Amino acid sequence: MALDEIIKLGDPRLYEACEPVGKNELPQLQPYIDKMHRLLTEFRSVWKAGRAIAAPQTGVMKQLIYMHIDYPLIFINPVLENLSNETMEVWDDCMSFPNLLVRVRRHKSCTIKYRDANWRLQVMNLSGELSELLQHEYDHLHGILATMRATDNKAFRWREKPE
Ligand SMILES: [Zn+2]
Repeated sequence: MALDEIIKLGDPRLYEACEPVGKNELPQLQPYIDKMHRLLTEFRSVWKAGRAIAAPQTGVMKQLIYMHIDYPLIFINPVLENLSNETMEVWDDCMSFPNLLVRVRRHKSCTIKYRDANWRLQVMNLSGELSELLQHEYDHLHGILATMRATDNKAFRWREKPE
């Protein structure tokens, strides 16, 4: 099953920092993006959740995020800036441990600076759900999982797979 291809909690690759993408690598990214799209779509059909996926979750150790909410968006070599002092607590989920929900604290708003699929520098202001989501994905590129940001040692909840 395709979902078996998603790298799961405990795999050492999830704790490693990813390499930045070089401009010369741009033409070779499409197969990675196709795979991320395929796995995100598959995940969503099973779990009724999942808005974005980071490359290391598919075994590609590159600074690359694929988000698909209303339309597909690719973030290459993202950097988060202007992290708000104001934070919020949320139950976070992850395609690498779909049965687990983790209570984490995230910045309410931030800015993401990244290269798009045409290597143009882009800046996007994020707040609320998008801010939380991209902080999660950005962490993946630096070997950090939501489990490592749990607000305390009881901040975990089991999630059943939907019928
Ligand atoms: Zn995740």
